[in-house]
Amino acid sequence: MIRWEAHACLPLHPDASFEPIRQYRELGVSYVSINIGMDMNPLDQILRTIAGFRATIAAAPQEFRLVERAADIERCAAEGVLAVGFDLEGAVPLLEQPEMVEVFRQLGVRQMHLAYNRNNSVAGGCHDEPQGLTPLGHRVVEAINRAGVLMDCSHTGRRCSLDVMAASSAPVIFSHANPLALVEHGRNITDEQIRACAATGGVVCLSGVSKFLGHPAPGAEQVARHARYVADLVGVGHVGIGLDISFREPHLQDDPPPPYDPTYWWPRSAGYDRTSQPSTYTPMQTWLELPPALGAVGMSDADIAQVLGGNMMRVARQVWG
Ligand SMILES: [Zn+2]
Repeated sequence: MIRWEAHACLPLHPDASFEPIRQYRELGVSYVSINIGMDMNPLDQILRTIAGFRATIAAAPQEFRLVERAADIERCAAEGVLAVGFDLEGAVPLLEQPEMVEVFRQLGVRQMHLAYNRNNSVAGGCHDEPQGLTPLGHRVVEAINRAGVLMDCSHTGRRCSLDVMAASSAPVIFSHANPLALVEHGRNITDEQIRACAATGGVVCLSGVSKFLGHPAPGAEQVARHARYVADLVGVGHVGIGLDISFREPHLQDDPPPPYDPTYWWPRSAGYDRTSQPSTYTPMQTWLELPPALGAVGMSDADIAQVLGGNMMRVARQVWG
């Protein structure tokens, strides 16, 4: 069975430890998408992070492999190697040049957002004024389709995500998002967005973030409840897992340089407060607890295999080839 973690965050620093990624391998996860930057990170930070992560992966070929195709993940699983790919959260690092999508693909980026919480020249963010996909944004969607990169609408504004899903010629995913019907939060997605995602053949991967799951110390039970909701709405073939666990290393300085303002990217008005209400995440062991938790909400073994990775493998075969 392939187990697919659609989003994980290490410090955006070339020296970030891969110990958490090693633990994913020990937990039996087959593929992890590792974040290498967001809209607020300057391109030099993103490139240094990619270079550092690529070197760490290359130095441990028995443990990790940067993959290109869905079939590579099956090969890795057979060899006991954890397959990894990178994801970019936002189109600002493309420098308004759609051809940059292919450059990032060559560097290992397999999944891409168009906006991170705030509007940019390409797309609208989920914590900003409503803005659709811009003319440049349409060219970026075409470039992502052409490059064979997974299009990701988490963090995108509601209206814009519907534009992206209508424009894309390939399945579109939400790599880490939760249903708004269960928890009222600007980052969570409407039934209309979930239906539109399923209509592209895509997958909604449930996050393990406390605010979005509506629980101060969430675990597999909360993730399973959200998975059940999406499965009931659009079918179990459109449900995945993207716990979005953020692994911090306080000694590594990975904040963007001044004038970086975290309250711009995570507005207090949207319910973020790093000091009084910091986000917590489901523990990594959630990966071991998910099969029984999904069983407890009525999923069969075949359903569980789809949710834990089968559905994302189907999309990867279509998008990555
Ligand atoms: Zn994110």
